[in-house]
Amino acid sequence: MPDQGMAEDMHSLVEHRLRRIDQRYTSGRRAIVDLLVTAGHPVSIGDIAERLPDLPRSSAYRHLTDLHAAGLVRRVAANDEFTRFELAEDLTEHHHHLLCVNCGKVIDVTLPSGAEQQVTSVISQLADTAGFQPHSHRLDVLGLCSACA
Ligand SMILES: [Zn+2]
Ligand SMILES: [Zn+2]
Repeated sequence: MPDQGMAEDMHSLVEHRLRRIDQRYTSGRRAIVDLLVTAGHPVSIGDIAERLPDLPRSSAYRHLTDLHAAGLVRRVAANDEFTRFELAEDLTEHHHHLLCVNCGKVIDVTLPSGAEQQVTSVISQLADTAGFQPHSHRLDVLGLCSACA
């Protein structure tokens, strides 16, 4: 869990980004950002409802949509049935996901730096061939978790 100072930096950054799209950092949005920071893994609407029982699901969806529009939150999903949400990578760190197609479990994985460099270099070669400028990449692995295999 990040220390208090880091969390405060994060909240001012979130507030700033929301202001850029004329949105306020309301207590409901802050509660969701707090949850995403402390959860340490992508969360579903069901997880949010469990952790924030006073927040109606419709409001949770609306807050997530606004945070997504501000580039603060991204969707992680094996399929439409199992959408989860996490903080954008520029607020956390670059990583990949192992997604279970059966139960929706998501495991965050960070590649060893050598492997990450290799992935990046293969991607820039592919992009180069297409005259494309890569800014970042997403690599999610679909399969079965240990409980479902
Ligand atoms: Zn599973
Ligand atoms: Zn990567």
